[in-house]
Amino acid sequence: MNRAIQVFLYPEEIEHASPTEVVELIRDLGADTAIVAVMYHRSRRVFPRHQRVSVLAAPTLYLSPDRRRYERLVPEGHAHEGLLRFRDECRAAGLRFHAWVVGLHHELLAAAHPDVAARLLDGSPAGHSLCPSSPDAIAYVAALAADVAAQLRPDAVDLEAGFYPAWEPSYTLTLALEPLSERARLLGSQCFCGHCTAILGDDLETRTQAAAGPPFGHPSDDDDVRAELGALRAKGAASLIREVARAVHGEGTLLRVFCSGPSEQAALQGVAPEPAASADAVLFGCGPLGGVDLLERFTGLRALAGRSGTVSTNWTPARETFAADAERLARDGAKGLALYNLSLVPDAGIDAFRMAATSFREAATVPW
Ligand SMILES: [Zn+2]
Repeated sequence: MNRAIQVFLYPEEIEHASPTEVVELIRDLGADTAIVAVMYHRSRRVFPRHQRVSVLAAPTLYLSPDRRRYERLVPEGHAHEGLLRFRDECRAAGLRFHAWVVGLHHELLAAAHPDVAARLLDGSPAGHSLCPSSPDAIAYVAALAADVAAQLRPDAVDLEAGFYPAWEPSYTLTLALEPLSERARLLGSQCFCGHCTAILGDDLETRTQAAAGPPFGHPSDDDDVRAELGALRAKGAASLIREVARAVHGEGTLLRVFCSGPSEQAALQGVAPEPAASADAVLFGCGPLGGVDLLERFTGLRALAGRSGTVSTNWTPARETFAADAERLARDGAKGLALYNLSLVPDAGIDAFRMAATSFREAATVPW
């Protein structure tokens, strides 16, 4: 299912043009897969081609959930008119249709179920994420992915936020006049909720505080902490991805998981061969990086995951190397190129991606 030119988009895209017109635009880009957001996190999104700012004030499920599938954690959602029609138009035009699902990142469920939510090294709630060490969080993400798969029958569910939340908490202004060290930021955002502590043990929590240094603990040079944490996170992430894959396969659909961030951070999120192998495919989120930085991010994440996959890359106004970057990624063994994100790019971005798609295809080193 990889080895393709793919395009992310939001369902709001089909509020501005008919599903047929959006499908034609995607085909005109040289793409063969549409990746449509079906569960998305809170965000303010600027759609330049439609002169629109679209705000999701809360996590948004663009479907009406089948409540019988869920256990303790149940999402709210409303069906988006046009999503099924868009899927049908994709199929009729020979495009593959992926459902893009944000998993653990859900601040309403995290607030409503503190025992399932991630807690940081200082004991405070992360605020935006559930913790994959919690069986209830795994049950929720598996039920959500299966619900989406059953209702939309996509070619794949693309799971974002399926690993441990090892990034700085969203929606929080961290006030620190003396910037935190890289170690403190990395280790300070590690989850030590009750479920994690049961797996990791009190000793590792104390050692993590010391390895993080101020303000979490007195500094110590315990270089083994990151490796030990990463190995345990990989096991936890594999438990979630295995369960989600089982649920999605039960609906006749494939599962692809997003891996993202710098290698040091991704390792602490649990990105490793075991969880990556539990999915049918992986997608590397490389954001706005270009040139050497993009290649390094891709090769770093691929090494951690132990397999190649599709690279998701942002268009940016200053980026003049889009086509050259695509060519290098193809030569380096990327299995596909995904544009982040059709709904967010202006006309200039569409033209740039069309050229990047051509470069990628021409330089592909592995047969399609
Ligand atoms: Zn936890």
